[in-house]
Amino acid sequence: MRDFSKDHEWMSINTATVRKAHGKEVPLLDILDACARHGVRAISPWRDQVAAVGLKEVSRAVRSHDLALSGYCRGGMFTASDDAGLARARDDNRRAVDEACELNAACLVLVVGGLPGALQGQAEYRDIGRARAQVTDGIAQLLEYGRERKMPIAIEPLHPMYAADRACINTLEQALDVCDLLDPAGSGDLGVAVDLYHVWWDPKLQTQIERAGKRRLLAFHVCDWLTPTTDLLNDRGMMGDGVMEISKVRGWVEAQGFAGYSEVEIFSYRWWERSTDEILRTCIERHRAVV
Ligand code: ZN
Repeated sequence: MRDFSKDHEWMSINTATVRKAHGKEVPLLDILDACARHGVRAISPWRDQVAAVGLKEVSRAVRSHDLALSGYCRGGMFTASDDAGLARARDDNRRAVDEACELNAACLVLVVGGLPGALQGQAEYRDIGRARAQVTDGIAQLLEYGRERKMPIAIEPLHPMYAADRACINTLEQALDVCDLLDPAGSGDLGVAVDLYHVWWDPKLQTQIERAGKRRLLAFHVCDWLTPTTDLLNDRGMMGDGVMEISKVRGWVEAQGFAGYSEVEIFSYRWWERSTDEILRTCIERHRAVV
């Protein structure tokens, strides 16, 4: 297992972690400048942050700072109640692949979608089995396009509390079942993003990480689970402030040969009240101490 205690060479910053400072949105280019200032080598930006600046300009900034992308957030949201909605999702996911290619991302991360409309407050149907079938079909189509463009696709299982509105793939086992169905050869074109926030509690976590193996382990996301958690989306903890055994799980992932970045992804209304520099400084300290 790699020693992370001496530097932050293998830490990536998911740009949602520093999306805000002092409660206000921070433009992505300022975030990239701050990351470069703190010696961060890799990031994982969100599509809306990229769109707000413009893809070309972000691409130039990424290159000029010599930043790697540990992933691109995000594709997915495949479910819909009619064919037009499914087609819109397909087209949007292809654009996400194109953007990921332009930014030279390691993979496109998928939040696959739950019951259509639920995120907006009104589910258009309640059959989660139908949603899961639409997700599998959507990933199958996107995988073909990802292969054409040579962009690996990473399914991120989300904690079951998001099953209705964000993702009906909720365990690593479920995600790997989809991978095995669509890519039985284990080509490396389709795999999983292991985000500890979503999967740390899973009694099958270690065995499913072993099942995934190096070719399916495309991304590793860290933060911490606070007790109590006061907001289902935006109260993730800084590493070391919660109950996760982060380095133990990193050991399992690395035992499979994973040698990529550990990506710090913290949506936190608490941390977003601090300055960008303080957030990044703390991420670096905790990454060295507890990741
Ligand atoms: Zn994640």
